[in-house]
Amino acid sequence: MSLVALSACTSHAIAGPVTVARPSASPPSPSVSPSVSPTPSTPPKRGTLEWYVAQVPEFPPLPPTPQLREAIKPGEPPFWLRVPTDQKVAFITIDDGGLARPEDVPAFIRSAGIPVTMFLNSPAATAHTDYFKEIEAAGGVVENHTISHRSLPGLSYSSQKHEICGSADKLEQLFGKRPTLFRPPFGDHNDTTMTVAHECGAKAVFYWSETVDKGIVRYQTPEKILHPGDVLLMHFRPALMDDLLAALKAIHKAGLTPALLEDYVG
Ligand SMILES: [Zn+2]
Repeated sequence: MSLVALSACTSHAIAGPVTVARPSASPPSPSVSPSVSPTPSTPPKRGTLEWYVAQVPEFPPLPPTPQLREAIKPGEPPFWLRVPTDQKVAFITIDDGGLARPEDVPAFIRSAGIPVTMFLNSPAATAHTDYFKEIEAAGGVVENHTISHRSLPGLSYSSQKHEICGSADKLEQLFGKRPTLFRPPFGDHNDTTMTVAHECGAKAVFYWSETVDKGIVRYQTPEKILHPGDVLLMHFRPALMDDLLAALKAIHKAGLTPALLEDYVG
């Protein structure tokens, strides 16, 4: 099985890939003859956790030190479609949290060592805290995506502040760490959004470079290839296992390695 190669370069780095336990469901066949040779191991069944883990490509190691082309100015969170880095990395982000939470996802992320950033709505995080804590324990990081997922530019300063700071407060209470990154619902934002995001603790505000849904990566550029620093957006939806695998394959095809967003901008 191939695993994500990760170097322990920062406090957020995942502590190395974990070997997936082989399925314990296949008991040793009763030995009629003591001289019988061991049966070759059967490949994992398609769609099982072991199958997904076995499909993960092997990646080049991460750069030892994350580097940005442009520094983040204190007090002025940038709005980024991709991370300004020339290093051969891309970033996986998973949004929302209320719709679906496939049960094998935390184990897949842990077993394959997939770095993920979760932009959660605080009510979903409240209702399903254990699930997101499981992903957090596997190396994932929880970030802010408002309370109610309304488009922000039509809202007043105080309403935007309620949506962004209210969610950050709740996520900090649930997970013991205040979010440092923010993604506005639908990517919609105005100057007020950026001001409020800063006031609520965001160091950077994110859009995305590609989306992934139902196991298909959708590119915004005609050449259909990822670029260094690209941010892939997917959601907590029923096909999240396929979305994660499709993202990993696309990252590998582009000669990149999945990295954790917070290691670059957190
Ligand atoms: Zn969303």
